[in-house]
Order: sequence, then structure tokens, then C-alpha cells
Amino acid sequence: MAKKSKGETPMMKQYNSFKSKYPGAILLFRVGDFYETFGQDAVLASQILGITLTKRNNGSASETELAGFPYHALDNYLSRLVKSGQRVAICDQIEDPRFAKKLVKRGVTELVSPGVSYNDQVLETKSNNYLASLTHDGPTWGISFLDISTGEFLVYEGNQENIEKLIASFNPAEVLCSKAERGLFLDILGDKHNPYFLEEWFFQYEFAYELLIKHFATQSLKGFGVEKMAQGLAAAGAILHYLEQSMHQHLKHITSLSRIEQGHYVWLDQFTIRNLELVYPQQSGGVSLMEILDHTHSPMGSRLLRKWTMLPLKNKEKILERQSVVSSLLENPGLCEEIQEVLQQVGDLERLISKVASRRVRPRELLQIKKSLQHIKDLKEKLLQVDIPFLQKYAHRLDPCPFLMDTLEKSLLENPKALINEGGLIKGGVSESLDELRDIVDNSKAYLEKTRQHAVEETGISSLKIGFNKVFGYYLEVSNTHKNKVPTSWVRKQTLTSAERYITEELKEYEDKILHAEEKIVAEELQLYQQLVEDASDFIAPIQQDARVLGGLDCLCSFATLALKYDYCCPQLGEDFVIDIQEGRHPVIERQLPADQPFIPNSLYLDRDDQQIMVITGPNMAGKSALLRQVALICIMAQMGSFVPAKRAKIGIVDKIFTRVGASDNLARGESTFMVEMMETASIMNNLSDRSLVLMDEIGRGTSTYDGISIAWSILEYLHEHPRSRPKTLFATHYHELNELANQFSRIHNFHVSVKEINKRIVFLRKLSPGGSEHSFGIHVAKMAGIPPQVVERAQEIMHYFESERLKSSSKSDPDLKEKLKDVPPNSYQLNIFEAQDPALERIKNLLESLDVNMLSPIEALLKLNELKSLLQK
Ligand code: ADP
Repeated sequence: MAKKSKGETPMMKQYNSFKSKYPGAILLFRVGDFYETFGQDAVLASQILGITLTKRNNGSASETELAGFPYHALDNYLSRLVKSGQRVAICDQIEDPRFAKKLVKRGVTELVSPGVSYNDQVLETKSNNYLASLTHDGPTWGISFLDISTGEFLVYEGNQENIEKLIASFNPAEVLCSKAERGLFLDILGDKHNPYFLEEWFFQYEFAYELLIKHFATQSLKGFGVEKMAQGLAAAGAILHYLEQSMHQHLKHITSLSRIEQGHYVWLDQFTIRNLELVYPQQSGGVSLMEILDHTHSPMGSRLLRKWTMLPLKNKEKILERQSVVSSLLENPGLCEEIQEVLQQVGDLERLISKVASRRVRPRELLQIKKSLQHIKDLKEKLLQVDIPFLQKYAHRLDPCPFLMDTLEKSLLENPKALINEGGLIKGGVSESLDELRDIVDNSKAYLEKTRQHAVEETGISSLKIGFNKVFGYYLEVSNTHKNKVPTSWVRKQTLTSAERYITEELKEYEDKILHAEEKIVAEELQLYQQLVEDASDFIAPIQQDARVLGGLDCLCSFATLALKYDYCCPQLGEDFVIDIQEGRHPVIERQLPADQPFIPNSLYLDRDDQQIMVITGPNMAGKSALLRQVALICIMAQMGSFVPAKRAKIGIVDKIFTRVGASDNLARGESTFMVEMMETASIMNNLSDRSLVLMDEIGRGTSTYDGISIAWSILEYLHEHPRSRPKTLFATHYHELNELANQFSRIHNFHVSVKEINKRIVFLRKLSPGGSEHSFGIHVAKMAGIPPQVVERAQEIMHYFESERLKSSSKSDPDLKEKLKDVPPNSYQLNIFEAQDPALERIKNLLESLDVNMLSPIEALLKLNELKSLLQK
């Protein structure tokens, strides 16, 4: 903030008063045609935006930094500031500077932050932009999500684990939480989600409740089914209050508050969402499932598909409804294409109608709404005619809002100007006074010509011209030859070398009319336009419903396109506990392999009674992880209502999917990788159910071999022996020692992903076959990766030793590793960096051998290092 000082100018005083009201936000201060930033804001803005930082004397003794940009570049610069995580308060001139007597009145018109924006350049078309709010009372947590750009407002109450899962699913752009427990919230949010801390009272239940019923204009919140959620409502109320404070008063598009029903959806915890790369790839350049699935044609569809992916259904009827529409669309490919064409034309109706609510809608966007309604009308008629019950049901829910369509059709020009303050928006015939004003302007040329002819007649000067300039408006120009014919009533205004320019009373009067007519037209058009927006705002709820129906249709058409394009099959869903996939494929990997490298399909069977757990061994790179993930992805796709990449699939409804990957990197939080792995695993153990699908990939890898094997072993035992549930489990490991488990537990079965050794080289067959594998092939992979041959050979030597020792011992798993390690035969060759017999290296070696490191001071060490370097150059 700019420092206050006695000598500060009135404008800086005004600036400072706003600055102190919006702590933590960059204040963009409108001065003439520029937005200016001062002090620290200017330093920050210049860094983020790459604009010039200057210093100026602000009328006091001190200098202040200054950086600004032209006002018309606001959208662009604003989006860059917000995308870099900044909060930005926009302070505009709220009166016309021409009429300001002293200092122009200013006011903050909007506070934009990562989670609260309507700006198309801040928002991603294909994903929601959520502002979340988080609070708790002891173990009960409340969370609320609002996407102000679409009006979607959600609430949830539950334990901390569920809250963390929701944060991972919804990936909010900003999270409001209480200052009082800053540390706790930071622990939960990590370095993501732009937390913003508010005073504790923002999260008071009573206050929140009042605010919510006031907003929805209801007596209670019973109608939303959220009445009892004290913490959830406290969070939702905090959002509304925060919006009010940040100058977002137009919230008519937030029409309801929906409860997130975790129980309706498959539980995918945050590790699973991450590990399966459902929406975001784990590494840059990776491909997520979403990228493969998304064949939608509208932003609403694309955003909804993301939600469907995060929240696969558990209700069989609902899944079957989606499946049945997809099947119908596949039978009517022409219909699917027709729907998609409409979707493409409609655009982002959901966000457009939000802009109507917030009074930010531009004329061309309003026109787009009109066109969309026309398309919706056509689509509705079309769908009502087809003999597909579900599609007819959707058609009935579509409302083309004929009254609004008609109003817009009558009033809004077909090609309106882009901005609202230039006129050129409203059709003729809407307002008499507007038509009259337009008449004056349109006929001005003819009128001026009449005036000219009149003057010609009066003076007899046939060469008389009429012109206009900014200094004195309309004038009559008379060449010097005729200037003595000019009547005395004309007033001379300008003398040129060959002519004189005059004004007359008649001309002045007319000029007044024309000039004011233009201003009046702009003002009246603006008023009529605002009335149109007002009219449109009465149709927010039905248009939001249209957007939802279209979004759903879009997702279903996308499933149909996908099934056809990639040859997916319709999975058979059951209430039983069987997962039976015939020739399944990994939807993402199969799309990424080069054309000459086909994806090898695999079949797999799991159930509750005979084959509950599969231990899958195989060397690194064999395809174990791919297989595990493919099973989970197929289940998720099936329960989203999509077809799946397999020849045939039977899926007994799954209610939870857990995925754990050994030694996953989570160093950012400062926990050891093994600790993280164990914490993640613990959360599985505590949440198991009979319908769970558990994927464990190389669990135990993060610690020493025997530690790892023991942990993996006991986890498998636990999953098998669990008293209440028999979760279906796929356990990939390169510890072939775990194959022993199949002998001891009836529902554990061994499988391996097969490889073949040809000429000492490994060929990956990628086929899942029954039975365990004898040894791991890590050494071959090491060789392929370019590990020096000496190291590979030595590893082979050690492995042979272990294998011969194991054969000698009766037990397959070997507890005496420590003893055996002592007896590893010595290296048959000596790895020596000086082997190359280089004379320079020889000299270095001699010098190093003569050194006693313990006796060296740091300076001496440096000198020796220098000496060593110089030896290299000799
Ligand atoms: P593992 O977990 O056994 O180390 P991955 O599952 O990571 O091996 O697979 C290694 C690579 O092999 C994958 O990145 C993929 O490109 C390829 N791959 C895996 N499964 C198949 C398959 N069924 N068909 C073709 N290529 C596959």
C-alpha cells in the first residue's frame, strides 16, 4: 500500500481509502483511460504482466512505484493476474469525468479472485471453476462449492476423509476458511486451491441460515433437503456473505442449493482419482481418461462428463437408463449426429444465462441465447417425434421459453454492436422516440443539402459548401471570390487562404438536434437493452434446466460416439459380486500405442467366493499396472453408463474403488514415501466393503525387501480374512515370494503377466496367465535401460548365488537374508575408475592417495582441488 503522508494528493487519498478496504488484493485504479497500480501492487503487477514499472512523485515527499495498462486491455491483464493466484479489486470511475466538479467519484465495482470470476479468459470452458468454503465443529465437517459462472451451488457435511475426497474431486480454484485454524486448513489443502482466510464469524450457522433463506426467499431450507446440516450450511452461508462483500450482488442465477449425496456414487478416494488419472494426468504430457472419453460438443456436456467421471453411479436403474439411451443412439446414428449439431450451435448456454443474472451479458451473447432457444425448440420437436421413451422424457424437460425468444426476436438487432454504449443494438419499431431520433440522424444529409440549397438561393453563391469540424461544428464555406455576397447575419469563424467559413443560427440549431440525437439514441438503446436483460433474467431457471438437459444428452451422445469409434461393448450390470471381463483393454494406453504395436487384450475374473484376490507377478514393464488400472477404469466407465473397452463385460456393481501404488512420490508434504504408502493403505483397511475393488500395485516397494514382503503379505492376509467383507483385490508385485500365499488361502490365486526370453533378451507378451512366476526380471530391465554391463553382470552373479542358496534351503521364502548377504561371493572383477591407464588419471590417483583428508583445512582442500584440476589439463 502507498504510504500515507501529509502532502498526499486528493486522488492518492482516495486510492488509499480503497486500498485499505481490500487487504490482500491488487487494486486496479482507473485514471482516465488507464488502470493504474501503485506501490507494492505495481511491483507485483509489473512482474506478472511484464508491464513497465516507473516511479513518480505522488505529490508528497515520498516516491511511489507505478505500473498501468490501457483500460480496454482489462480482460486480458485481469485474467493473467487472477490465473497467477492474485485477488484483484477493480476500482472504476463511477461518474462521467466530464461532469465531475472536483475529484472524479470512484468505487470498487468488482473483486475478482481465482474462485470468483465470470471472465471468459480466466475460466476454462471444459471445467467448472469452484469457490469452496470449509468449516468444522469437532469431527463434523461442512463444505460448500459454488461455481458463480454457472450458478451451481452444492453442500456436503461429513467426516474429514470425505471432505478431502471431495476437495480432490471438485478441485476448487479457491477455498474460504476461518483464520482461527489456519494451520489445520493449510494441512488439508496443502499448497493447492488458493486458501483465503476470513474472520471466524463468517462461518456462524445462525447467520448463514438467515442469509440463505433471504437469498432463496424461502421460509426454511427444508425444500432443499439440507435443513439439518449445520456445518454444511455454515460453509454455504460464508460463501454468500463473501460474495456480497466482494461486490457480487447479482446472484439470481443461484437458484438452488443441492446436497452432495456421497451414498449415491462410487467412492473414489483422492489417491484413486489421482492414480487412475481420471481427469488430470499425473505427469505433464500424460493423457487422462477424460481426454479419451470426451467427445462432447458443448461446454455443458464437457463439464458434466467430468462430474460423471468423478461420481460414477451405484444405482443400477440409473445406470441402465444411460446405457439404454446410448444403445438407442447407436441404433440411430443419424439422430445422434443431429443432436450433436444442435449442441455445437447452442454454445455455453449455462454460462451465458449466468451473465444475464449478473448483468454482464453482452449484446452478441444475448443474441446467442435467442439463437440457442430456437435450436432448443427444434430439438424438442425432433425428440418428441422419435420413439425412444427416455429421449422423449428429456424433450419434455426442454423449455424453449417462447416468450423470451419472441421478445428478443422483436427487439434485438440480428448483428448488434459488440459493446452496449455505442448504440446499434435495438431494432426499429420498438420505441417511437428512438425511431424519431434515428430519423433525424438518418436524414441529416438530406436536411443539410436542403439548407445549403436554401443558402445558395439566398446568396446566389452556387459553389457554397457545407462542412463539419470539431472546433465549431457545421459551417458554410464561401470562396474568396464570393465573400462579398455573404449576408451580415452570418458569423465568420475561420479564414483560409482561398475561402472563409461561416456559421448561421439555423445551422447551429440543427447541429444541436443532430448531436444530441446521437447521444440520446445511445442512451435510449442502452436503457432498452438493459430492459431486455431484465426480461431475460426472468427465465434463468428454465434456461438452466435446458442447459442441464443438453449437458446430459451431450454426454450420452459422446458415449455413443466413443463406443462406435473405439469398438466398445455394452457391459452387463449385475447385483452379484462378479467382475468378469473378456478381452478387456486399457482405454488410454490402447489409444497411445504406435500403429504397429497392437494393445494385447486380457480377460479377468474376480468374485467373492472363489477368486477374491489375484496376486499378479511379472517383471517390471510387463504390463501389471496397466492391467490393474484397466479393470478399475472399465468398472468406472460401466457405472458412468458408458460402454467399455472389452469384448464382453459383466460388472457386479462396485461401491468403492481403492488404488494404492507403492512408493508414490509425495515429498512435497515432507513425508517419507513409505510412510505415505502405509497411510494410504491404512485408509483402505478402515473402509472396506463387500463391493469394494482394491488395486494394490507394488505395495511395500518403498522399504527393504523383507520388510516389504512382510507388509504385503499381512495386507493380503487381512483382505482375505476380513470378517465382514471380501473386497475383490488385484495385487501386482514383483515379489514372487508372495505366490506362497495361494497355498495357504483358498480365495487367493496366482497369475503372472507372461514374458519370453529370446537370446537372453526379454520379449513382453503382455498376456495374463494362471500361476506365479519363478523369478523377477529386473536385471533384464536394468540392461535395457543402459546400466553399464559390469553392473548387470555382477547383478546376475549375485542373483544366481541367491537362487542356488534358495534351492538348497527347504523353505521358499528365506528368512536368513542377512546371513546370506555376508556370504555373497566377492566381485570377480574390480571396478576401477582408473582402469583406463590414462597418465593424467594416474597422476591424480597418486595425489589423492597421498592426501590425508583429516588433516586438511578447508582452504587447503580448495587448493588441492585446484591442483587436481590443473593435473587434468597437463
Ligand atoms: P508394470 O506395472 O508391469 O511394470 P506397466 O503396466 O507399467 O508395467 O506397463 C509398461 C508398458 O507396457 C506400458 O506403459 C504400456 O505402454 C505397455 N503395455 C502394458 N500393457 C499392455 C498391453 N496389454 N498391450 C500393449 N502394451 C501394453
